[in-house]
Amino acid sequence: MISMEDVSKWYGSMRVLTDVNLKVRKGERIVICGPSGSGKSTTIRCINRLEPFQKGRIVVDGIDLGASTKSVQAVRAEVGMVFQQFNLFPHLTVLENCMLAPMKVRGTSKGDAEAIAMKYLTRVRIPDHARKYPAQLSGGQQQRVAIARALCMTPKIMLFDEPTSALDPEMVKEVLDTMIGLADEGMTMLCVTHEMGFARSVADRVLFMDRGEIVEQAPPEEFFTAPRHERLRDFLGQIL
Ligand code: ADP
Ligand code: MG
Repeated sequence: MISMEDVSKWYGSMRVLTDVNLKVRKGERIVICGPSGSGKSTTIRCINRLEPFQKGRIVVDGIDLGASTKSVQAVRAEVGMVFQQFNLFPHLTVLENCMLAPMKVRGTSKGDAEAIAMKYLTRVRIPDHARKYPAQLSGGQQQRVAIARALCMTPKIMLFDEPTSALDPEMVKEVLDTMIGLADEGMTMLCVTHEMGFARSVADRVLFMDRGEIVEQAPPEEFFTAPRHERLRDFLGQIL
């Protein structure tokens, strides 16, 4: 589903990704963790071409991201993304937030877009809030709307960038439960998160990034109980 080969990226003269290699199969759940500034966001932003990269190759479901600007549109239609700061449009209702992309990008009719939106709002258990504005919802509810909004485009891959980091502790579970539901349905997922309970129970593989490199990757059991690299041992010592 995703193939990154020797991907490197610089901001000016600063190298932020160094030869990142990553293969993700259909239905696989990957968790990425690592210290702040290690390149986690940059990595997943490269996958849906929110960021250009200077070296290497990324292919997403057969679409070569280096190929042309056309490939950017194609990949955005297949890859859903959820951010730390929910990024909902404040001037649109929850329902309108969910209807926008299917109508604008896919040309879905208003009636169909509304039906799709209600389907996914029901799935994240907030159909009752469809007519409200984002500011009228809690952080956890807003993040579930953001997930529903991404799902309205029926993506093949979902990318999450620290989706629970901006939430009050009591709201983390409702968002993680929504993500676990998606995982159970077989969604291909890449999640940047420091929720190690989630990583243990959901991830097929956990990746540790440091200074722009994937330093270690292993199934959760091995990752947490037998970390090989000292940098990972130090990191786990700090967060666990
Ligand atoms: P992480 O998500 O692991 O915290 P990032 O991928 O956001 O790390 O950042 C990796 C490195 O790239 C950091 O050193 C960060 O300061 C730098 N960086 C990120 N975005 C930009 C940008 N737009 N311009 C310049 N440097 C950036
Ligand atoms: Mg980040």
